[in-house]
Amino acid sequence: MQEILTIGRYFKRKFGVKVYKAPISIMGFTCPNIDGTIAKGGCIYCENESFSPNISKEQRSFKLNLHTKDNPHLNSQLLQLESQYKKTKTKLAKKFNAKKFIVYFQSFTNTYAPFSTLKALYDKAFELEDAIGISIGTRSDCVSEEVLRYLKIKKDEGKEVWIEYGVQSIYNQTLEYINRGHTIENVIEWIEKTKEYGLNVCVHVIFGLPNETEEMMLNSFKLLCDLHVNSIKIHPLYITKNTRLANEYKSGNFTPMSEEKYLDILVKAVQMMPKDIVLQRITAGVPNDSLLAPKWCYEPHAQKNSAKNALLKAGFLY
Ligand code: SF4
Repeated sequence: MQEILTIGRYFKRKFGVKVYKAPISIMGFTCPNIDGTIAKGGCIYCENESFSPNISKEQRSFKLNLHTKDNPHLNSQLLQLESQYKKTKTKLAKKFNAKKFIVYFQSFTNTYAPFSTLKALYDKAFELEDAIGISIGTRSDCVSEEVLRYLKIKKDEGKEVWIEYGVQSIYNQTLEYINRGHTIENVIEWIEKTKEYGLNVCVHVIFGLPNETEEMMLNSFKLLCDLHVNSIKIHPLYITKNTRLANEYKSGNFTPMSEEKYLDILVKAVQMMPKDIVLQRITAGVPNDSLLAPKWCYEPHAQKNSAKNALLKAGFLY
């Protein structure tokens, strides 16, 4: 039986205690794939305000980008960061006796703002009580050397620093079809640069994207392993209601993958994964009414158990 290096095991070995991620969502952050800088509407599976006519005028009007000069909402954002962190910390401490945390900037593109705003938010996150570091979810075409230089200093001071890049596929025709707005060449360039700065890189990959074969999915996974990323998150493609993918699905142009097929590809991917890469996620779902299909993605807890069992049968302990 091979024990997979999960993020829990990685942190426990490194810090001697369990470390929990505290997800943060800061108002004003968006994505260049949504605001029209690169594209409009976002990735075809992304539920965002392009599909939410009820969003308030204020929310719509305050959106950051790389050229924002003044940020009158910075203080509110810092307070929001602190209060979200405290809330999650209290909850996790009560439920799991959690003592150490990673501040996870999760929603949208968390490097898509002027450096002064980013620095203020990251500085604050690094200082939060019992936070050992941060993890930043972003796109490879939205990160700058300035940000990487700053994060390297923090890493050299002993902080835990991760950057999470949404990659999804290594095939440019797929990236174009799903409206990612960047190429695989850009992804490779910035993964390599981020690693040159000595920062931890986590990549997200999706199995079941339109027009992709099993071979393509496994090739995507293999290339990311060959780039020596530090961690991988694997997701099945599911369809939520207010997305462009929902229209494709309703018009019969897209059929989601079965759970059986997903688990089969997941096991094959894990079989080719080097033992020192952290496998941070093996499935994902939406446990509410916004899920349109497939139905097996409605219960993330049951999904995780099925994925763990499939891996166990193949000799892997997740
Ligand atoms: S990159 Fe992320 S936030 Fe931006 S459109 Fe795609 S899924 Fe949505």
